[in-house]
Amino acid sequence: LRRNPGEGEFHQAVREVLDSLGRVVAKHPHYAQGALIERICEPERQIIFRVPWVDDKGQVHINRGFRVQFNSALGPYKGGIRFHPSVMLGTIKFLGFEQIFKNALTGMPIGGGKGGSDFDPKGRSDNEIMRFCQSFMTELGRHLGEYTDVPAGDIGVGQREIGYMFGQYKRMTNRYESGVLTGKGLIWGGSRVRTEATGYGCTYFVQRMLQTRGQDFDGRTVSVSGAGNVAVYTIEKVASLGGRVIACSDSDGYVVEKDRIDLALLKEIKEVRRGRIADYAAARGSEATYVQGGSIWDVPVDVAMPSATQNELNGQNAATLIRNGVLAVGEGANMPSTPEAIRAFVEGKVLFGPGKAANAGGVATSALEMQQNASRDSWTFEATEARLAKIMHNIHDTCANTAKEYGDEGNYVLGANVAGFTRVAEAMRAFGVI
Ligand code: NDP
Repeated sequence: LRRNPGEGEFHQAVREVLDSLGRVVAKHPHYAQGALIERICEPERQIIFRVPWVDDKGQVHINRGFRVQFNSALGPYKGGIRFHPSVMLGTIKFLGFEQIFKNALTGMPIGGGKGGSDFDPKGRSDNEIMRFCQSFMTELGRHLGEYTDVPAGDIGVGQREIGYMFGQYKRMTNRYESGVLTGKGLIWGGSRVRTEATGYGCTYFVQRMLQTRGQDFDGRTVSVSGAGNVAVYTIEKVASLGGRVIACSDSDGYVVEKDRIDLALLKEIKEVRRGRIADYAAARGSEATYVQGGSIWDVPVDVAMPSATQNELNGQNAATLIRNGVLAVGEGANMPSTPEAIRAFVEGKVLFGPGKAANAGGVATSALEMQQNASRDSWTFEATEARLAKIMHNIHDTCANTAKEYGDEGNYVLGANVAGFTRVAEAMRAFGVI
């Protein structure tokens, strides 16, 4: 705590992993040697830089850019870029730390990192977004490379922003280095299914959890918080498996449907018009109710899929969901449940899929994008989705088997932390003290 003052989210993420490691060290004491755990908690490199840019009125703004290159034991640093006014070093460190174990769980050769800026893209024109992305990449670019560090999108960063950043990188280096960024557009090196991957993957993970109790999505009511990339494609996949998504949200409020979310309308409003959930609710008329403020977790559902942001679901929300009979919770977002909420779900025997396992489909598909770039190839939607489904089922089974091996069957938090840690720790031990 003294070493990293004011980084509450980072402390929270580290504590959660360390809580799981007691059982590992008891069984394998060598993991406590060579300051291995201390080294995992210290980023290999942290980069903080100035991002100056000019708005449409000619006014100059200064934002702060970050890239935390946390751990490269398993491969080049890999993790998204977040643009949101709340971003500070502790945010990027928590996300980068989570990313190490998530990436390890995918079984693919990728290390952990994360980046971002306190830039607020809301209400900014296309030209302003472009100038910001170009300035951001002008500084970040020198730290990237397909064998070094490969960013992707996250909150506030989608294909448009990746395009502006890739264009600037290409211009700076005079190289068409496709593997330097993932989440690219299809005609300039992107992978099919990358846009859908996190939401689809999280749905597969929850499906597999439900199967362990002989259940499935068919006819189940579901709430999905957020209305961004992860949320929209979670809603799409849940619907295709027969689930009924009745609520979604943004940071202003949530909407509850009489029957189910109208996905085509939601996509049109979020992806084309870049509108708000209030606009969606207005267009739905008497079919839906909009609740400004308030909590989406008050809506009774069988399955809850928090897919907006960190700490959006607290102990009280968890108690409400449990009282209303929730069967399963799958975290599409990173660390959306507070420690109190996680405890309530685990103790209440709710099927609980932690983000670092349940939302790993996005980064796994990014690794598939890197494979396609390296081989100058482009796979079909069906082939890529089949790979994603297999990876998610493997992650589920790895977490479930590890939890069982360590004496707490059904505890996916323990399973994910231990399985992810073990892979990274083995590689670090092989490299000696570096
Ligand atoms: P988007 O920017 O596409 O969407 C984010 C959504 O969450 C928006 O609806 C936004 O609403 C809402 N939101 C953001 N901040 C808050 C807040 N403070 N309170 C309430 N709602 C908020 O981001 P993504 O969908 O890409 O990311 C969502 C989550 O999933 C994040 O935790 C991210 O780290 C995680 N994730 C994303 C992956 C990906 O592939 N994109 C991969 C793995 C994890 P509003 O418009 O009002 O801000």
